Amino acid sequence: MTGAFVGLGSNIEEPATQLRQAYEALATLPDTRLIAVSSVYESLPMGPTDQPSFLNACAHIDTTISPSELLTALLAIETTMGRIRKRHWGERCIDLDLLFYGDVSLQSERLTLPHPGLYQRDFVLMPLAELLGSEYLMPNGADIGTLLTTCSTHGLRLSSVQLHSGEIPGNPL
Ligand code: ATP
Ligand code: CA
Ligand code: CA
Repeated sequence: MTGAFVGLGSNIEEPATQLRQAYEALATLPDTRLIAVSSVYESLPMGPTDQPSFLNACAHIDTTISPSELLTALLAIETTMGRIRKRHWGERCIDLDLLFYGDVSLQSERLTLPHPGLYQRDFVLMPLAELLGSEYLMPNGADIGTLLTTCSTHGLRLSSVQLHSGEIPGNPL
């Protein structure tokens, strides 16, 4: 089993509903257990400014599927949920980024690990700090708290949106 972290984002077509649907899909990935999910945060868009604010969250999973297979599964969830790519960093009903997968470091045409934006984005670092603690050392050796003082900021605000109520619906291996 390897611990991996997935960033969830949505800014169109009822973002709260989209995040909940993606969360349910993560909970039913094969050979994978959903360990925890962060609070939901609202953030200003990173790319074009003429688009709605985002809702973001992070999920902690334990999995035996490979990084490449996991990426394939995440992209399949996006496609099933109707994601259409229009413009770079533009609006999307759902975005699932594989933030990091254990201490795996790799760069291929379709997958870079850790995710290239991991250390620069408050909307992934803040939910990760919630899940791991701000003292946690990221794959680059820096603790999340320190990274949060140097990353770019997107007007992050805690949202009242809840992704689940009560027990996390895991699927036993
Ligand atoms: P960003 O990656 O900067 O957050 P984005 O999420 O808008 O931007 P997408 O259009 O969702 O980018 O993804 C483009 C491609 O990035 C995907 O098709 C995928 O092959 C590739 N990719 C590379 N590394 C990763 C990763 N760690 N997680 C998710 N996708 C990745
Ligand atoms: Ca992204
Ligand atoms: Ca993405």
